[in-house]
Amino acid sequence: MKNVLIYYNNDNLLYLIEKLKDIYKFKYYSILKKGDRAISNCYHDVNIYDDINVFEKDDFDCAFVISESPFVNEMYYELYKFNIKIVYTLNAEYLPILEDNNEICNIITKFNLTDKPLIGYIETHVYNQCNLNCKGCTHFSNIDSSNAISLESFEKNLSILSRLYNVNTLRLMGGEPFLNSDLGKYILIAKKYFPNTNIDIATNGLLLTSMPQELIKIIRENNIAIKVSLYIPINKIMNRLEDFFNRNKIKHIYGNGCKQVDDNVLIRKFHKCLTLEKNFDAKYNSRNCFARECWFLKGSLLAKCVTPLQIEIINEKYNVNFEVTNNDFIDISKIKQSSWNEIEKMLSPNDFCKYCVPMEEEYDWEIKNKNQKLEDYIVCRR
Ligand code: SF4
Ligand code: SF4
Repeated sequence: MKNVLIYYNNDNLLYLIEKLKDIYKFKYYSILKKGDRAISNCYHDVNIYDDINVFEKDDFDCAFVISESPFVNEMYYELYKFNIKIVYTLNAEYLPILEDNNEICNIITKFNLTDKPLIGYIETHVYNQCNLNCKGCTHFSNIDSSNAISLESFEKNLSILSRLYNVNTLRLMGGEPFLNSDLGKYILIAKKYFPNTNIDIATNGLLLTSMPQELIKIIRENNIAIKVSLYIPINKIMNRLEDFFNRNKIKHIYGNGCKQVDDNVLIRKFHKCLTLEKNFDAKYNSRNCFARECWFLKGSLLAKCVTPLQIEIINEKYNVNFEVTNNDFIDISKIKQSSWNEIEKMLSPNDFCKYCVPMEEEYDWEIKNKNQKLEDYIVCRR
């Protein structure tokens, strides 16, 4: 490697450049930053820029993307448009699963952007209901009457997705994925179609220690990481959980990457931004919303976030009429030959984002498994 581009989105990750230099033996590099967590203007004696066009096209042999998912799709798209073919992605969310930082090559994946378009992060349900039932669940799992996603549909759509795109991180979730007694089969299907993708399972953690041995084996042997969201009830079983992970040698991440789980990192607040009025600034939301790159796959439909694809649950339960248009998703079953045009569409403003206020409303987290009201999910504007 003669000259490489480092593209990163959080100043706390800059130190990883030294590790990359050691592993990949490059001397010359330029640095590009993205987003409001990357504010430095230089690293040692190297300038940091925020516009890729300050460089000459064809200047670089390859790029390293050092990022916290999910905010990477726009970075990949810019690199593609800049004629960069080879990208090494370092998903910093996985740093806590490494025993030591010298193992970082285990969380770096190489992609060729001219092979297929690269999607940074996709989440998809393997089970719709949940055993925790948080008030205002953004996936509407506490009012969803359906349960497991059919294995046939799951396989069919992952097969289509893998034919069209490379994916850096695929997150299996719900609802609560461990309520699905066939979870092992879903993992094996995901691994079959995405052997080089980081596959993890997002869970509230409450069922983990009663996982059957066969599932433990599948998770360990397929290098699947478990991402435990830190809701208040997890506090009571933390010691048991940590013992379980260590005993079974399962890779795991707590919350947003914290190593030490204490009162400070437990989720005590939830947020909502959905309204009944479709008149907010979709362009602003598509650049700033916290969920804008939590791309969600439901059946063969892929949307910017979970809401447009799950909103029918709200429409049916509360007899309201949120409108979903063709502009709110792409249907991967209708795509014969993939192109970066779909990625561009996914990054562009969609119609559904007009339903969301740019400033989320915060409320106290609580369990609510009955008497859920429309107001639990909708911002009450005065
Ligand atoms: S844990 Fe809470 S937020 Fe997560 S899926 Fe279950 S109900 Fe929804
Ligand atoms: S619909 Fe758009 S603005 Fe609303 S949460 Fe999803 S990505 Fe954000």
